[in-house]
Amino acid sequence: MEPHKGIVKVEGTARPPDSARLAGVIRDLLRALGEDPEREGLQRTPARVAEMLQEVLAGYWMDPADLINGAIFEVEDNDLVLVRDIEFYSMCEHHLLPFYGRAHVAYIPNGRIIGLSKIPRVVELFARRLQVQERMTRQIADFLEAVLHPQGVAVIVEAAHLCAMMRGVRKSHARMVTQALTGVFQTDPRHRSELLAHLRRPPEKL
Ligand code: ZN
Repeated sequence: MEPHKGIVKVEGTARPPDSARLAGVIRDLLRALGEDPEREGLQRTPARVAEMLQEVLAGYWMDPADLINGAIFEVEDNDLVLVRDIEFYSMCEHHLLPFYGRAHVAYIPNGRIIGLSKIPRVVELFARRLQVQERMTRQIADFLEAVLHPQGVAVIVEAAHLCAMMRGVRKSHARMVTQALTGVFQTDPRHRSELLAHLRRPPEKL
């Protein structure tokens, strides 16, 4: 079985973009801003930015199959699994500025679970792209839904957006909260309240 086939429409290319081409575009950008890309402080900037973009947008060329292969296990108990406070950094596709925060990912299995360490990587797969928070939240839920066929998935994301904080009247220290619910989290309020009760408790200091 290849559970990853066709589960997710992944934009972008299979391999990282050409660094020299990216660096050239950044050099042009600096010139368009009226800067001198040859001055000392900027000389290495195009190469650095190219490298940085390849890192922060690495979700485009992560292979979803790598996340799943060998990491799906059969279980008998179908109790709530919650991984909370997963730190993430993404890039707003409207302004090319970061948004960042925490994701809480929960599911109720239906005989299958995914290795715990994979869940933050699923978040990264979708965070490290040009994104909008709503779509990222939904993609994480859809991915787990497709891979695990669980009884339900809940993804809650809280984030601060630099494009709201740095621009305009800078009044927005507000965080945006988005959620995507499937299955029993959608249909059965008891599951929702159980999850919210967990999330209301401050994280334990471990
Ligand atoms: Zn934005």
